[in-house]
Amino acid sequence: MWRGCPVPFAMYTVPKLTDYSAQALETAAADCVRACADEAAGVRNEAELKAFRDRWMGRKNGVLTQINDLWLKAAPKDAKREAGRRVNQIKAHVEDILLKAEFLRLELATGTPLRSGRVDISLPGIRRPIGAEHPVLRTSRELVAVFQKLGYSVADGPVVETDYYNFESLNFPPNHPARDTQDTLFIAGQQAKPPRERLLLRTHTSPVQIRTMEKMRPPIRIVIPGTVHRNDPPDASHSPMFYQIEGLAVDTNITFGDLKGTLDHAMKEFFGSRVKTSFRPSFFPFTEPSAEMFVSCFICGGSGKRGTDNAPCRPCKQTGWIEILGCGMVDPNVFEFVKDNGYDPKKVSGFAFGMGADRIALLKYGVDDLQLFFQGDVRFLRQFS
Ligand SMILES: [Zn+2]
Repeated sequence: MWRGCPVPFAMYTVPKLTDYSAQALETAAADCVRACADEAAGVRNEAELKAFRDRWMGRKNGVLTQINDLWLKAAPKDAKREAGRRVNQIKAHVEDILLKAEFLRLELATGTPLRSGRVDISLPGIRRPIGAEHPVLRTSRELVAVFQKLGYSVADGPVVETDYYNFESLNFPPNHPARDTQDTLFIAGQQAKPPRERLLLRTHTSPVQIRTMEKMRPPIRIVIPGTVHRNDPPDASHSPMFYQIEGLAVDTNITFGDLKGTLDHAMKEFFGSRVKTSFRPSFFPFTEPSAEMFVSCFICGGSGKRGTDNAPCRPCKQTGWIEILGCGMVDPNVFEFVKDNGYDPKKVSGFAFGMGADRIALLKYGVDDLQLFFQGDVRFLRQFS
């Protein structure tokens, strides 16, 4: 109607309503829908369609948003219900008009009639296959669930960390090999910053221990799942990015016995009640004493041999034991960093542990190459659905 007219087309503007009677609302709604249909009729190409969609449906200042503000939000209390009904009606009309405009544009672009009346409804629909949980994330979630049942809550923290949280506050001495650029991926261009503020990709989930203790007073029991990064070239058992699960319990009178009991129970929950656990002395900067925990091999049952032909069991290297995690009693030096928040090392004690979710997934699903988890090959992942 207005096309070809030399006078510029007056675009519809949303009027403010003073009269909220049913009659007035109906007239205002009809005006609005008519204006929308008129504008849609002028849409001829993709750019005009986009402009039309933005003008009417734009979240910030689209006509529908304005109507919502000017008609519904501003409506007096007793007219809200009716105004809401009208606004919803207008919304449905506008969506319908937009859909038709999209159809029309497609017809013009392709030269194929697509009008709703001519759509072949006997054609098969679009199949949307249901996805499956990634095996590493599933393992991580299952492990987290074991600790949640014990009353642990899930804590989270940034992947890009400062040197302070990743190393210093966790009692890493300045020349500890993990601080070496060979292992840690530092963010470039930070030489001007003091060392403790320099950013890096966290090499373990342990910084979340300090971050949580800064926020929450004892007692705490947290489990921390997340990704970590190290400068390791990818191979069958290494990846520059991998998944850890970390745990921390702090209270009065927590002993190494609590640590052993908790982890033994967790491993039985996860791998089955027949597995045994064994603790061997180790070293970590942030725990003292420290230990590595082994579980009896759940693949060969601890015998080191598999199957009827007594083939050597590879996952446990025929020892009957698999190393699963590192753990220990929180070093008092770590508590010193959060002493002011109630973590006086003379009054509280705690234990911490950390394990690789991807490594456990490898063992659990009998996968022999870590890279398979990160390549996104659907043929591999489909086996876990
Ligand atoms: Zn074995």
